[in-house]
Amino acid sequence: MMKRIPEPFRIKMVENIRMTSREEREQALIEAGYNPFLLPSDVVFIDLLTDSGTGAMSDRQWAGLMLGDEAYAGSRNYYHLCDKVKELIGYRFTIPTHQGRGAEQILFPALIACKKAAKPVFISNFHFDTTAAHVELNGAKAINVVTPKAFDTRTYYDWKGNFDLDQLKTTIAEHGADNVVAIITTVTCNSTGGQPISIANMKAVYEIAKQHNIPVVIDSARFCENAWFIKQREKGYENKSVKEIVKEMYDYGDMLTMSAKKDPIVNIGGLCCFRDDEDLFNEVRIRCVPMEGFVTYGGLAGRDMEAMAIGLEEGMNEDYLHYRIAQVEYLGERLREAGIPIQYPTGGHAVFVDAKRLLPHIPCEQFPAHALNNELYLEAGIRGVEIGSLLLGRDPETGKQKESPMELLRLTIPRRVYTNDHMDYVADTFIQIKERAKAIKGLEFTYEPPVLRHFVARLKPTE
Ligand SMILES: *Cc1c(COP(=O)(O)O)cnc(C)c1O
Repeated sequence: MMKRIPEPFRIKMVENIRMTSREEREQALIEAGYNPFLLPSDVVFIDLLTDSGTGAMSDRQWAGLMLGDEAYAGSRNYYHLCDKVKELIGYRFTIPTHQGRGAEQILFPALIACKKAAKPVFISNFHFDTTAAHVELNGAKAINVVTPKAFDTRTYYDWKGNFDLDQLKTTIAEHGADNVVAIITTVTCNSTGGQPISIANMKAVYEIAKQHNIPVVIDSARFCENAWFIKQREKGYENKSVKEIVKEMYDYGDMLTMSAKKDPIVNIGGLCCFRDDEDLFNEVRIRCVPMEGFVTYGGLAGRDMEAMAIGLEEGMNEDYLHYRIAQVEYLGERLREAGIPIQYPTGGHAVFVDAKRLLPHIPCEQFPAHALNNELYLEAGIRGVEIGSLLLGRDPETGKQKESPMELLRLTIPRRVYTNDHMDYVADTFIQIKERAKAIKGLEFTYEPPVLRHFVARLKPTE
């Protein structure tokens, strides 16, 4: 069995969580329309819905909150944040934003305006949902060119977040370099399961981009976890520090957007930074004012910026990253040992259970991963999230349910929140569920909203 890495922190404050009774959970799930998104978090025992904004800040970050300078303009915390970005990432110009999508909404229209393309497109290893939404809201097309190995959950591959370089080149040729507004390198690749991208791949992508004069945006939510994977897996990087690797990763980009709610372990915050393009920085800053807030706070309180400045560095701590990635892997390995199919290897922030293979008797239009999520909640008060056909939705032209290539239940692990014992509890629950997997029923809608339906849909088990 895989070794458990002890938590590299002591606990000096606790938040109690309450175990509910089976009857209470049955009632809560009925009230939530069999949609765990609609459960009040008070009736959830272990919440693995997301790793976004759910991390535990450190004593130093909490102390930082007391140093908040709430000046409207020129807060000292803004300058501290800029200094940390320069030191750790090497980019000269920083705009704070309320979260990752705040950076996307001010950057993308500016990039599109600069390019003046007839048919603008963005190319990424994989656009995150809000990233694709902001591309499309601005009239451009979002194209993903991730390695096809990412979709084979059974077969080990070190770099399931890599770009398929041939596909990248043909996509640029097909659309014409003049139409490619930007290439977005997502580290780690959230949508394929928090899977890393290698330095070699980042570098190759950057070289291709430069041949065609295309800017590269690094979508940076999990840059520390990606750097840790590089240190573990990439030849020539085993003796480099995470700090050195992070610096090199950012050599292969021109600017970044970041959701600081992930690796920098804050509850709210984001960044939009530029290596040296001062004109673009100024252009984006102008858009920041009406959308996010004045350029030295971007929708955040001074204290939030202080916690983020501290979190940027803590997220890169190697003892922490060792434990963090091992905790996710430990949960994945326990499930694999019990014969539960998962995306393999596990990524940085979550274990993805392959519900299509665990519940082959439930067809895609009855949402097997969602059914599994409900079962997990009923059994033990654990909440994950469906990444499959329910999320995907219907074809807008035919109105037919689209069949997702994968039906996954994501168990997302918040940072520094749950212990390895909690992971054992999750694994033990899965093992119990597996015994009676055949009896689990699919779901049908009682209320189906027209868009973003997974957030508010109401369902019931099929007869
Ligand atoms: C979370 C995330 C975003 C969006 O960030 P928010 O802080 O949720 O707005 C963008 N890209 C990736 C890869 C993400 O994981």
